[in-house]
Amino acid sequence: MTTLLEVKGVTGGYSYNHAVIKDVSFHIREKEIVALIGLNGAGKSTTIKHILGLLEPIAGEISIAGKTFQSDPENYRLSYGYIPESPIYYEELTLWEHIELMAMSHGLDREVFYERARPLLKEFRMEEMKDRFPQQFSKGMRQKLMIMMALLVQPPLYIVDEPILGLDPLGIRSLLTWLNRCKEQGAGILMSTHILATAEKHCDRFIILHKGEIRAQGTLEELRRMTGLPDSSLDDI
Ligand code: ATP
Repeated sequence: MTTLLEVKGVTGGYSYNHAVIKDVSFHIREKEIVALIGLNGAGKSTTIKHILGLLEPIAGEISIAGKTFQSDPENYRLSYGYIPESPIYYEELTLWEHIELMAMSHGLDREVFYERARPLLKEFRMEEMKDRFPQQFSKGMRQKLMIMMALLVQPPLYIVDEPILGLDPLGIRSLLTWLNRCKEQGAGILMSTHILATAEKHCDRFIILHKGEIRAQGTLEELRRMTGLPDSSLDDI
């Protein structure tokens, strides 16, 4: 299996003299969903910000499909789809204009754009919101906009930060169905989450962060073996 994301010995944070994450290493291959798990403040979002290229590591290296942010920032950014924890949007653009902008910035042609955009609007029950502005949306609807924008461009790698918070049950089901479909088609997905039951059901591997360091990583079976708790769930680990 091809490695899509490689995080190698990354130490980093918000300033050069204070490391929030320390010597973090893991990878994501194609056709897998990997959960990034940890308590509040463990460093999940900080790790994600380094992967996105928003923070520069103090030490270590991150590459997506062999490219680093430092060597080729434009192509690096195009190689992942990001679903943020807090929706980011333009007040002056409608829902449809947001997804159109996303398509244009990724060079999707018109026909492909329509082919992909319509089913997404339908799946997330947002067709009636098409010409409305995100300020008029609930938090969950804004989250659906972020999800549709990421899914539209079908990147090889998805970075998903706390995707479930704020979504209604149908939205959660749609998101998880689409992510599983993307995985079957070859995508790799890194998903930060607090919801352990969802992680256990949908993720192939788990990375457990504690105070900025990786405490353990592996499949559920491997984690159980490591902890010597054969029937344990992620809650116990
Ligand atoms: P949560 O589950 O609550 O979102 P998290 O695992 O994503 O937590 P981070 O947001 O990465 O954790 O926070 C890790 C540490 O980094 C915390 O001590 C936090 O205070 C600090 N931190 C987060 N954002 C900033 C920032 N913008 N500037 C400085 N420190 C920050």
